[in-house]
Amino acid sequence: MDKIIDGLFVGSAMAESDRAKLQEHGITHILTVASNYTPSYPNQFAYKSISIEDMEQENIIQYFPRGQILVHCLAGQSRSATVALAYIMQKDDVGRDEALEAMKARRPQVHPNPGFMDQLELYHDLRYEVTPSKPLYRRFLINHSAEHFREYGSVEHVELGADPLAQPMPAQRQWRCKKCRRPLVTEANVLEHQPGPGQVAFSWNKRNASGMDTPHAFPQNRACSSLFIEPMAWMEGVDTGLVENKVCCPKCDAKLGAFNWAGAQCSCGKWVTPSFQIHRNRVDEVRQNPLLPRRLH
Ligand SMILES: [Zn+2]
Ligand SMILES: [Zn+2]
Repeated sequence: MDKIIDGLFVGSAMAESDRAKLQEHGITHILTVASNYTPSYPNQFAYKSISIEDMEQENIIQYFPRGQILVHCLAGQSRSATVALAYIMQKDDVGRDEALEAMKARRPQVHPNPGFMDQLELYHDLRYEVTPSKPLYRRFLINHSAEHFREYGSVEHVELGADPLAQPMPAQRQWRCKKCRRPLVTEANVLEHQPGPGQVAFSWNKRNASGMDTPHAFPQNRACSSLFIEPMAWMEGVDTGLVENKVCCPKCDAKLGAFNWAGAQCSCGKWVTPSFQIHRNRVDEVRQNPLLPRRLH
């Protein structure tokens, strides 16, 4: 068991079972980051448990704590270290690598797996707020669902982009149904890709990014006849586990495009996975300006 900062210790399963050491360090709360782990002293310490495996694809970011914690897993190297790093990062507002260096000075064997390292970077980019209302976190969740689909061939729970009609502040840039003018998506829902042949996965991190731009970069893709977007709350079939379906306007039912978890090819040649696309010629791009509304094309 190693003290990382005041009030925060990281250790292995052995540390959790050593009652004398726990008492010696004045520990009162224990956070277990492991699956199927039975607490050694449930009557003596306050336990909280995060049941996950030490695998790259585990979503650990949803559990990042805010508050006073003491944390252990089995080896005290990956899962517990990741949760403790997240704690230090948000407490002192330091970057992932800086926090890791500081922790290694106290506990040299810490070594989060690459997937957890990516999630720590994402946590920093999210400014320590893990909420689906942030586009970057939705990208992560959709990527998670896409990996689940690749592995099992079924669609699990999908995080959906909010209906622009339900948003209090209209976005600067949005796309409306050409037929009935109903707002469909804003630029926060759009995923641009570099035009050209090849494959692009719906990725969110720098390590796996291969031509998919971040939601903040927003180049003009005139070569692409489709707009690739995230699954939206108004789309029929996205929340019922359908693998593919057409995408229609929720107001006038005009056909706008299609979605497919196995992916689809853009007119520029890029294969996009998963693919939620609406054809540009079925929508109008508009810039919201309360004083001077104008159509771009
Ligand atoms: Zn394209
Ligand atoms: Zn319509």
